[in-house]
Amino acid sequence: SGLVVAMDGPSGSGKSSASRGVARALGLRYLDTGAMYRAVTWWMLQRGVDLEDPAAIAARSAEPALTMTIDPDAPGVAVDGVDVNGPIRGAEVTGAVSAVSAVPEVRRRLVDLQREIIAGSLPDGGIVVEGRDIGTVVAPDAPVKIYLTASAEARALRRTAELEGTSVEAQRAAMARRDTLDSTRKADPLAKAADAVELDTTPLDLDEVIAEVLRIVKE
Ligand code: C5P
Repeated sequence: SGLVVAMDGPSGSGKSSASRGVARALGLRYLDTGAMYRAVTWWMLQRGVDLEDPAAIAARSAEPALTMTIDPDAPGVAVDGVDVNGPIRGAEVTGAVSAVSAVPEVRRRLVDLQREIIAGSLPDGGIVVEGRDIGTVVAPDAPVKIYLTASAEARALRRTAELEGTSVEAQRAAMARRDTLDSTRKADPLAKAADAVELDTTPLDLDEVIAEVLRIVKE
């Protein structure tokens, strides 16, 4: 049966581009789990759910219906049939997603869905799964686990290059805030799996990161 590659790490570590590149190189599917938390957050904002009230988020967590496209050449997410690939990258969703992803009911539902998608990919060869808790919670038996890191400076520079109208300093502050929220929450805090291979991408370009991951996969 198929291969599962777990790719965890903070934003700006080069995770998304590297994960897609690895999936393409190996002919695997690609799942962006961050996009799932972002899509649920977008839905909660649309519905006016009070994101300072975890019980309110939990009460509606089963409502948004996500459809994931797991083609590494055209990955995407729709909620209740609406394509949300643009809005989920905006500042509003990015600023709110940590509050939504901290709610256990949201995590339980998305982890179940992620496991279904992973299982469904195995007959097709397998999948590269990108997130924060893939090696620890979603797919603890994955044969390959990579944990990408990068210096705070490198991460902020990458995020600034991806977004319009923001400064490196503003990005650094926003990322530090999100890291703290994600790593101190009670439900499944962001952490490196004990058996993950850590890869510091600070001095590497995208092709070098992909080559290094492919080398680890082949070991
Ligand atoms: O990777 P990305 O920046 O798109 O993730 C957005 C947010 O989704 C993270 O800050 C985190 O709160 C949440 N997340 C998570 N578990 C994952 C993936 C993302 O909690 N597996």
